[in-house]
Amino acid sequence: MTIDGTELMKKLISLSKRLGYVFQSGEIYGGLQSSWDYGPLGVELKKNIETSWWDYTVKTRPDVVGMDSAIITHPDVWMASGHLKNFHDPMVDCRECKGRFRLDHVKGDRCPECGGELTEPRDFGLMFKTKMGALEDESATVYLRPETCQSIFINFKNIVTATRQKLPFGIAQIGKAFRNEITTRNFVFRTREFEQMEMEYFCLPEEADKWFKYWLDQRMKWYLELGIKEDHLRLRTHDDSELAHYASSCVDIEYTFPFAPDGWGELEGIANRTDFDMKSHMRESGQDLSFQNLLTNQKIVPYVVETSGGIGRTLLAVLIDAYREEEVEGRTRVVLGLHRNLAPIKAAILPLSKKLSEQAYEVFELIRPYFPVQFDVTGSIGKRYRRMDEAGTPFCITFDFDSLEDKQVTIRERDSLDQIRIPIDTLASKLSDLMEHGWS
Ligand code: ATP
Repeated sequence: MTIDGTELMKKLISLSKRLGYVFQSGEIYGGLQSSWDYGPLGVELKKNIETSWWDYTVKTRPDVVGMDSAIITHPDVWMASGHLKNFHDPMVDCRECKGRFRLDHVKGDRCPECGGELTEPRDFGLMFKTKMGALEDESATVYLRPETCQSIFINFKNIVTATRQKLPFGIAQIGKAFRNEITTRNFVFRTREFEQMEMEYFCLPEEADKWFKYWLDQRMKWYLELGIKEDHLRLRTHDDSELAHYASSCVDIEYTFPFAPDGWGELEGIANRTDFDMKSHMRESGQDLSFQNLLTNQKIVPYVVETSGGIGRTLLAVLIDAYREEEVEGRTRVVLGLHRNLAPIKAAILPLSKKLSEQAYEVFELIRPYFPVQFDVTGSIGKRYRRMDEAGTPFCITFDFDSLEDKQVTIRERDSLDQIRIPIDTLASKLSDLMEHGWS
């Protein structure tokens, strides 16, 4: 069944709350605008996305190492990076509906919401400022990092010394970033506090184009591995007017977010940042961050290819892509068709009747050490199946009255609704096989 975009977002936000994916932050106090809290299923989905990214980008590669840096960064970093000078979005206000919009999101001189007259553009600083220590004067001003990558640049020398990596190699990090965005909306798509997954790949300047193409390809493959449909993703090259001050080229991976004005919204940016950041930090810190080129024995400042994605946006794309409604035997079935690797609950153990709880619980205990499984006995079996379909659980295991005699259970697969019956003592190995290879 096709669902209109606005309707889909409403349904998804409601499902997220009902099942424990995402809650409005501070809801009991009326909610804090643009802040969202991840519930029991949301945190698992988020962790599964992070683990997938980390495994793909760091763990399985000899040429990428990881790090985890402080959120409150030395203030000089933001001078060197250009944030203190450039990190402002010119904004316009609508005189009629009082809406506020980023100038680069407005086409023409009329309000995109109501067609009203717009004010002149004004600048807004996007970094969150705070004070460090007991003193409240200007010297105590520090900033919450607006991106995670600068901590990678400033640790470059430490990491080279510690790991003895040779060019080309990458440094990756997952962590929180903060931007005092003026307009926040569309659920977790644009928030003021968000998480980034960033990787900076240091290479010879003459090889930067090659690595740029390589990483673009890798990043696209990762989104496809998460199960996002290929025709819901596209690449968009930044034209010269849109390029950030530090980049010589940039391509965005975009997804068909239903609320995006032209149907596409950014998931991740891949950029050739040249030697801009390294040279800026050398200038500002007075430290030599160059690298010995082993081929020529000359010192060079490496170029950097960056991949920079957001966890919130990936999670949202995964949820949107997975949500579907279908007719089954005259009833509407809501399914979150999450890839089995991302699903927060891999299997649910469901006794057909409350009377079977004790024996079914033993099956749950048998499986629990190996997979995140849930035991559910509340409500009719049909209702429990539906709840698991909505939660995105790939397999339901039903313990019925025959199970007492034949020591077998039925596995029901979420998408095909096919069922198989297998001996309880083979359940753990069958599930691990299903998790690895899928149902068919
Ligand atoms: P946009 O144009 O949408 O504001 P951006 O180009 O400023 O994004 P980058 O600075 O390239 O974003 O950040 C890299 C990634 O971090 C983005 O692709 C996105 O996934 C994520 N991100 C950036 N800003 C936010 C935000 N306010 N809320 C959630 N995720 C964000």
